This record gives sequence, C-alpha cells and structure tokens, in this order.
Amino acid sequence: MFKALVLEESDGKVVSSIQELGEDRLPEGDVTIAVEYSTLNYKDGMILNGLGRLVRNYPHVPGVDFAGTVIESSHPDWKKGDEAILTGWRVGEARWGGYAGKARVKGDWLVKLPKGLSAKQAMAIGTAGLTSMLCVMELENNGIEPAAGDVLVTGAAGGVGSVATAILAKLGYKVIASTGRVDSESDYLKGLGAAEIIERSTIATPSGKPLDSERWAGCVDAVGGSTLAAILPQMKYRGCVAACGLAGGTKLETTVIPFLLRGVRLIGVDSVMCPIEIRREAWRRLASDLPMAKLDAMTKTTPLKDLVGMSKQILEGKVRGRVVVEIGA
Ligand code: NDP
Repeated sequence: MFKALVLEESDGKVVSSIQELGEDRLPEGDVTIAVEYSTLNYKDGMILNGLGRLVRNYPHVPGVDFAGTVIESSHPDWKKGDEAILTGWRVGEARWGGYAGKARVKGDWLVKLPKGLSAKQAMAIGTAGLTSMLCVMELENNGIEPAAGDVLVTGAAGGVGSVATAILAKLGYKVIASTGRVDSESDYLKGLGAAEIIERSTIATPSGKPLDSERWAGCVDAVGGSTLAAILPQMKYRGCVAACGLAGGTKLETTVIPFLLRGVRLIGVDSVMCPIEIRREAWRRLASDLPMAKLDAMTKTTPLKDLVGMSKQILEGKVRGRVVVEIGA
C-alpha cells in the first residue's frame, strides 16, 4: 500500500483526497519508483484546481515531476536502488504522477540523479528549474553572451523566474528581474543575483509602436501575453527571447517588424517532450551552474496534505520561488 493524493470528478468539480492505494492501481511501466519528493509547479496548480482540461481521466494522481529510488525494474538501464528523476512526458497529466509514495513510468523517461545533487535539491530545481536551464541554453545557442547586454527575466519571483535569475547571474549576465511584487521580493531577487528589479506593470502593456528603444539582449519569459508583446519591440538587434510560460495569458498580439527589422529570435521552450539527450545535458548544467545556497534560499517544503491550499496561491502568483513536496511527511 502507498499514500497518494487522488483527484476525482464529482458533479463537474474536481475534488481531492489523500488515499491509501494498492500497487495494482499503478499504471503500466517498466520501472517502479519509491517517490521521496515532488514539487508544486504552475501546471500542478491548474491540475489540482481542475483548470485548463489538462487531465481527461479521473481518478487521477497529479504531480508533474518526482525524485526517488527504483524499487522494481525490467528496463535494462535501471536497477533496484538507483536514484532517478522524472519531469515531463505528460506524467501527472495524461498519466499518474508524483504526488504518491509510489509511481510507475517508462524507464526511457527517467534521468539519473546527477552527481552532487540530493533528491530534495533535484526537486527544488524540478520542472521549473529544468525549464529555466533550457531557456538559458537557448539564449546561449542563439549567441547571447554576457557581453551582449542586459537580460530580462519576467515572472522573476516565481519558480522558473527565480531559478533563471540565479543561473544567469552565476554565468555573468546582467539580469534585470521583472516582478509584480517589487516591495516584498526585491531583496530576495537581489540575493539571487539580479542587478536591477523592475515593476511588472512597466513592461506589461505594449506601446503600440512596432519598434521601441532597444533594451534587452536576451529575455527569459515565464509570463507571455501582453508582456511578451511589449518586450518584442524592445529587443536589441538579433536579441533572443526564450519564451516558456503563460502566467500572464496565452494571446500574443504583435507585428512582424521586430523579426524583420531587428532579426529578433523568439524561441519557444518546452520541457515536457524535450528529447532525453538535451534533458540530461540540462541536468548536468544545473548541477554545475546553479549555486546551491541560492537554491536553498528560494525553496520551501510542504507535506502532501497542505498542497491543495498552496496550489491556489501559485495560480494567484503569490508563491515565491520553488515548493518541494515531501511525500513521506
Ligand atoms: P509561478 O507561479 O511560480 O511563477 C509565475 C510568476 O509569473 C509569478 O510568480 C508572478 O511573478 C508572475 N505572474 C503571475 N501572474 C501574472 C500575471 N497575471 N501577469 C504577469 N505576471 C504574472 O509558476 P512557474 O514558475 O512554475 O511557471 C511559470 C510559467 O511557466 C507558467 O505559465 C508555467 O505553466 C510555465 N512553465 C512552462 C514550462 C515549459 O515546459 N514550457 C515548464 C514549467 C513552467 P512576479 O510576482 O515576480 O511578477
């Protein structure tokens, strides 16, 4: 038996409860993991509150990522006792995820816990941190080096934004952090390495001009919507935006002018179906390029029983940094 947070649909509403389940309830897969930690991401918040139709089949165990130890495997690369991380592959959406004492998945989806990281640190990074690193790698792939100029991070006090700020600062970039919580989060963001903090509202509304003054060499955008529309005309010549999020909306109204006249690159970043080789490289980079003291400063821990309450806060943009879920607690 194992403990799990289970979502069920009742009268068109999603309700959650913590239940004891038998192993026969686990989905198909060639590796079974004893889950130690999972996390709370924006998408988990949507799923826990039945938003966005991300889950089609109930009962459902959410949790889009987890870390733990292999307890059973028929996969050639995995044996009992191995420490593994899972993020993405629609686990926690289309399949049962990490808010449970046990999970069963395909061995091809797992990444070995990188040397130098504990399972808890790996989950402090989690899906949001992996996405941040994929964004940074895209800026690098597109030639944005620290000397290129200021790099903007939007939604900076959230999970993706916090990790992106810490990585970019460690790599020597001048990070300008945009947040809607300047009063409460400026010291926190400076502690992560941001050179300047700007109020979210100053970049949330497009000016209406196809081109604005050139401000940003690069941008990690976790917000999308009108913020992304406002940023594109502000990019420097051949600047690059790594766009991964939609916390501020999905609609994008822009013109082709920044792309035609400034050669701006807009790169979409997806951590869910990202190929395994790129994932492994991103985890290797996270273990080496993310300062662990800063990771600790941006992480809080919660037991499974408090998760649903906290999930409402993440949808309201009120959670700072990363939330690790302690499955055994
Ligand atoms: P968080 O809630 O931790 O962070 C989002 C941040 O965005 C908030 O903290 C807030 O930052 C800002 N924000 C919230 N609401 C608004 C709004 N209405 N307008 C402008 N800014 C807003 O979420 P995550 O960091 O976990 O995820 C961020 C985004 O990235 C989400 O949209 C998520 O779905 C997406 N994502 C995408 C992935 C991918 O593979 N592409 C993987 C992981 C996440 P502040 O208070 O500092 O302004």
